Amino acid sequence: MIKKLYKADEWQIIEETFDPLHHEMSESVFSIGNGHMGQRANFEESYSGKSLQGSYIGGIYYPDKTRVGWWKNGYPEYFAKVLNAPSWIGINVYINGEKLDLAKCTIENFKRTLDMKQGLLKRAFCVSMQNGIELSIDVVRFVSMARQEAGIIKYSIKPKERCDIQLVPFVNSDIKNADSNYDEQFWDTIFTEIDETAGVIVAETKKTAYTVATGFTSIIMKNGNALELNPACEHKDKQVSQIYAVAATSGDTIDLYKYVSINTSLNYSTDVLVKKCKENLSMFRILGYQKLLQEHVDAWAQKWEVSDIKIEGDVEAQQGIRFNIFQLHQTYTGTDARLNIGPKGFTGEKYGGSTYWDTEAFCFPFYLSTAPQEVAKNLLLYRYKQLDKAIENAQKLGFTNGAALYPMVTMTGEECHNEWEITFEEIHRNGAIAFAIYDYVRYTDDTLYLSDYGLEVLIGISRFWKQRITFSKVKNKYVMLGVTGPNEYENNVNNNWYTNQLACWTMKYTSEVYSHVHKSNPSKLKDLVRKIVFEEAELHDWKTITDNMYFPQDEISGIILQQEGYLDKEQLLVSDIPTTQRPINQHWSWDRILRSCFIKQADVVQGLYCLEDKFDLATIKKNFEFYEARTVHESSLSPCIHSVVASKIKDIDKAYDLYVRTARLDLDDYNNEAREGLHITSMSGSWLAIVKGFAGMRVKADMLYFDPIIPKQWQSYSFRINFRNHVLLITVSKLQTEFKNLSADDLTIKIREQFVLLPSQQPIVCLN
Ligand code: BGC
Repeated sequence: MIKKLYKADEWQIIEETFDPLHHEMSESVFSIGNGHMGQRANFEESYSGKSLQGSYIGGIYYPDKTRVGWWKNGYPEYFAKVLNAPSWIGINVYINGEKLDLAKCTIENFKRTLDMKQGLLKRAFCVSMQNGIELSIDVVRFVSMARQEAGIIKYSIKPKERCDIQLVPFVNSDIKNADSNYDEQFWDTIFTEIDETAGVIVAETKKTAYTVATGFTSIIMKNGNALELNPACEHKDKQVSQIYAVAATSGDTIDLYKYVSINTSLNYSTDVLVKKCKENLSMFRILGYQKLLQEHVDAWAQKWEVSDIKIEGDVEAQQGIRFNIFQLHQTYTGTDARLNIGPKGFTGEKYGGSTYWDTEAFCFPFYLSTAPQEVAKNLLLYRYKQLDKAIENAQKLGFTNGAALYPMVTMTGEECHNEWEITFEEIHRNGAIAFAIYDYVRYTDDTLYLSDYGLEVLIGISRFWKQRITFSKVKNKYVMLGVTGPNEYENNVNNNWYTNQLACWTMKYTSEVYSHVHKSNPSKLKDLVRKIVFEEAELHDWKTITDNMYFPQDEISGIILQQEGYLDKEQLLVSDIPTTQRPINQHWSWDRILRSCFIKQADVVQGLYCLEDKFDLATIKKNFEFYEARTVHESSLSPCIHSVVASKIKDIDKAYDLYVRTARLDLDDYNNEAREGLHITSMSGSWLAIVKGFAGMRVKADMLYFDPIIPKQWQSYSFRINFRNHVLLITVSKLQTEFKNLSADDLTIKIREQFVLLPSQQPIVCLN
């Protein structure tokens, strides 16, 4: 059952009533961040209702000791978790001595707004306290996009009658992760300080010894005039607070500005952290709220300038894509190659905040087309730098000769995942990492990347496939046994078609890249061959395998088989499942799910999406229709890929439905789990569904290619992309598509079967 909690609006997410039952979901949806840190929409003031507290800092993790029922050799010792970090948002409010707590008072005219254009979280409401006092409250909060260390809050109170107000801004390091395996606290508080101008807490992560200084300073104003009030200071074990006492009456406005600086040992040596933090706080005071706000809003304007997608005629679809793009920018800005894109970004704890195949398979194309080239390169370098660990990881499982198995889940390159059917068997992730290298090079033409870094990664992965694939005498073919495909509702299968395809594709591509580097940079190749002890016979082995690989297919119907034996299952359709039993993972036993034919996420269709040029349209259509009818899309990563393929076969209505499901997955809570955090990595899927799906954008033979269609619900849609130092603005409307080359140089593109020259700045129109 989807939920419709938020008002449709092009640039804002608006919640107009406060429902404690949905509060945790809204805490996720209204999260804010700046690519370095992020914050769930927890309230500033005390709240005794159900809430998932979450404040996260990119790259600061804790290796929580693995907890499993039956230990299997090869499991990692720990699961790296992005930590719930010291809380910086707190402002306790007392009215005539009574603590404001939205779980304990009457609330009217509640409005929570996420202003995506400006990157602001706003809250406005009126309360009647138990002591009878009525007030209205307005709060604005942002995590600065212009300064990675800054969090800012403006908290305003207007009482309806005379009362004594106490405002208590604080920072607190008495923090736990809700998903802590052994209920441990992951932080030691090592320093606290508070005086009338500022408060700082320094906390250090256990085991990993990351140090974080969280400091705040505050200013209080009455009716726009700064009050020269010296706050009282309170110093507890893990909390430092300032206490302001103000008398106010009807017509007065009391504003508290809280400026926060979060400085970490990722960027500074530990001994200067407090100093840096305090320097920031003084600077924030000098700059003041308006300036800090303006530079933040300007930084967002720049992001929107290059990456916005405008849809006319469908407000919900518009809101969905902007929400997704907004959250992607909040999660990853690409300026720090140590960071990556966790499935929940900075909006929840699930998945540990670590790196999955999601980055390459889903997010990569978005950053490739909308951000400077270094951003996508940084994502690739992240894996390059972890190649040694991927080789170690494979060694632990018994592989040799530099075979690399990238982890299912990682923070530092080491595997963190610990369910054997995924950790050891969901090895298709290696294919996605190889494919991203291909995607990057065909898009940017940065072929140097191949000789500098790419080939080494590709060889490690191909070596892995070679050893993981075995020869079946019965079939007289090469096979890959005991794997889990992208569809995790089926484990330990033989010959997952997608994995077999990606493995063969990687070995072929690696051989091509090898020949390319051989020609273009023989001395680099020589160095690499020496470094990794590469034998040319390996190329021959890969060819033998790829020429003789087994790909399961039903001979009668011609349907590609997701894995061997797939058709032995009772062939039901998703339409046969009562809606009251959806999502099946929340209603059926795991055993029932595993035995059913139902597919969690794109699997064969994922392969058709990546390798579409290998298949004719009829094959793609037949298999898409077969698998779409059996796919429950209970991974957020699924509908977007099906949507792109539906557009390819011109099933526009289907593509549209799947687009909406992707773009509004969290806003409408399709999978009933948004309260745990947002599905950040699938958010780029909505971008894929529009740009690769509806607009049909591809790179073919070194050229951009388009085949645009438009859903009947839309008047038009437009987007920008960067391509090899060109910026294009593409506007698709009902009858025509306009291409505008915003760069100084001409560019030739292909629209369907035609080559079209796009002169600089001149719009070129083609009929749809
Ligand atoms: C999906 C995986 C994905 C993971 C993190 C799982 O539910 O099945 O494909 O990598 O979530 O997003």
